[in-house]
Amino acid sequence: MSFFVYFIQCEEDRYTSLLGVGVGILLFLLTSFTDAGTVNAENVSQYLSAYPYDNIIFTDKECSTCKISKVSSLPARSKHCGICGRCVARFDHHCGWMNNCIGERNTRYFLAFLLWHFLLCLYGTIAIGLVLAGRLKELRVVYILTVYYGIENSFYSLAPHVVQWLLGSYNTQILLMVFLAIVSLLLAGFFGYHANLCRTNTTTNETFKWQDYINWRRKLNEARASAAALKSSISGMSSESKLPESKWKAFFRRSPLEDAEVVVKNNMYDKGMFHNIWEVICPLSTRRSFSQRKSKST
Ligand SMILES: [Zn+2]
Ligand SMILES: [Zn+2]
Repeated sequence: MSFFVYFIQCEEDRYTSLLGVGVGILLFLLTSFTDAGTVNAENVSQYLSAYPYDNIIFTDKECSTCKISKVSSLPARSKHCGICGRCVARFDHHCGWMNNCIGERNTRYFLAFLLWHFLLCLYGTIAIGLVLAGRLKELRVVYILTVYYGIENSFYSLAPHVVQWLLGSYNTQILLMVFLAIVSLLLAGFFGYHANLCRTNTTTNETFKWQDYINWRRKLNEARASAAALKSSISGMSSESKLPESKWKAFFRRSPLEDAEVVVKNNMYDKGMFHNIWEVICPLSTRRSFSQRKSKST
């Protein structure tokens, strides 16, 4: 992606575009080749202390695969990646594009990569647009169309002719511009999604876990509510004198959805927006306090 922008920019400002591409490659290398936050025998106790179990979506469990490397319990928020063959702290997802897990230590690079490439693609789209607008002005296309071809000088009557001329003369550039615009939109969406996850201190992995938990609780509550309604209708039926009234009462009350309590997501790792964002920029395991956690927990 960076190279596309580089090629269209090289005539304009070689050094700025080189810097743009350089930063893009650096962020790719950082995301792809740095440790995502591997949990091993040396750091497992620190990770266990840094990420306590919420006993909702994370309970004290051990990784069946990593048992070999003597990793006792799997710290909360971590997950075993079958592709990388290791347990990753604050596991987000395994990124096939990066060929690496996105975890505690490299979420910051991943986010920076998305943001940087979004800006680069947006810049590329705008730059091509400006270059083409410059060519339109330079070749006096509008003047030729209105004076020589007698086309009315209004946006709606000129636009189709200008687009036709652009497609005929600069089809490669137009194609590239549309491509960059689509990619920048996709990147903006992806970055927005992940930035929002970071804001609430959640990971993609946890989003699925919360979804499963909430669905399960909702079903459980509905089942409980309908069981209670059934019980009350049975007890109503047993007392013969109140039979007709209780039956109707039970019938109207038997709405499990209304009786069921609302299940809310109670994310204990969410410590406020600024704290959450800071935790992504400066991961817990990179802080000085992390190495001191072992003595506290043992
Ligand atoms: Zn594992
Ligand atoms: Zn992985």
